[in-house]
Amino acid sequence: MIIAPAPSDAAVGIYMHIPFCAHICPYCDFTTYAGKENLIPRYVQALETALRQEGERHSDRSVATIFLGGGTPSLLSASQMGTVLDACRGSFAIAPDAEITVECNPNGLTAGLLAGYREAGVNRLSIGAQTLDRRGLRTLGRQHESSNTLAALDVARDTGFDNVSLDLIFGWPGQTLELWQRDLMVVLEHPRGPEHLSLYSLIVEPGTPFADAAARGILKMPDDDATADLYETAMTTLGTAGWLHYEVANWARTPDLVSRHNAVYWRNGDYLGIGAGAHGHVGNRRTMNHLLPETWCGAVERGEATASNAETIDDRTARGETMMLGLRLVRDGVDGDAFQRRHGLTLEEAFGPAIQELIDIGMLERNERSVRLTPRGLMIANDVVARFL
Ligand code: SF4
Repeated sequence: MIIAPAPSDAAVGIYMHIPFCAHICPYCDFTTYAGKENLIPRYVQALETALRQEGERHSDRSVATIFLGGGTPSLLSASQMGTVLDACRGSFAIAPDAEITVECNPNGLTAGLLAGYREAGVNRLSIGAQTLDRRGLRTLGRQHESSNTLAALDVARDTGFDNVSLDLIFGWPGQTLELWQRDLMVVLEHPRGPEHLSLYSLIVEPGTPFADAAARGILKMPDDDATADLYETAMTTLGTAGWLHYEVANWARTPDLVSRHNAVYWRNGDYLGIGAGAHGHVGNRRTMNHLLPETWCGAVERGEATASNAETIDDRTARGETMMLGLRLVRDGVDGDAFQRRHGLTLEEAFGPAIQELIDIGMLERNERSVRLTPRGLMIANDVVARFL
């Protein structure tokens, strides 16, 4: 069970952003750059320094999860990964059972690299498979093949990883229900398949080549009904296979395999954002770092502030964010006692009328402990949770 929100003194998560990719996918709007890989050694050094600086600032907090996201963190060599994780251990009190996740692209995952990651302390991999369909991979502009994903699973298992997540995208142009079902079945039936799945619906983000192509009519995106059908297919297929749908976009084989780092976000907990473009949230302060790796490295090297934006979160916003994030926890929702401990008000005092209204129209349900989305509410989760902001 994931109890949301987190208490204000819960262990923090460390998110480190690695803003380098070998190639930019046409749908991507993450902070990432191609052709800047020569910056990686300087960037790793800056991460070391930034971790030390942050460790001094937050010496009172323990760390239970570390997540290297991107970009493509698997562009880091095993020794660079070791440097970064050693710096984490040297600067923070890391829990002995901390979850340490690295996002990986399926290509380039050799046994040597993953064995080195494991030795460095990585104990969870999140592999960006996106689809196992060849046409889908080309439509998404991915540089790998489905065979790379299957080989990556083999290498991960051979090097001792027993906690692997796959990212899949649904709703890409040309994807049918049958193709989606096939992706899911290949994953479910694979004897060395993942313990965890994150399934994202393809969103056309402004400013991306996909947005341009969609605007010109070159790219025909599925409509909302078709995307909802794909999502329902995933819920049915994974539910039938006994997987746990614990968050709007996330499934785990068993309750102990949920993403503990992402649970920090859903619990509206505290996390440090380290690296170019990383977001952080500690107490009532939210930060966003300089986007350009050169700018971020320079700020770290000169001992200057690395955030380009910082904002103070007022109490009303914090309560709304607890609802927005916690309601994404499909099974557990927002816990009434935890809400009161964290925010000093009961759910009823904070949001009584809004909750009742959403219960009346069948979007939320309440029991003696918590409030959560109904199956109908889940289908329009973003609209429902937005009511609390
Ligand atoms: S690999 Fe991931 S982060 Fe890199 S460009 Fe593609 S979608 Fe973006």
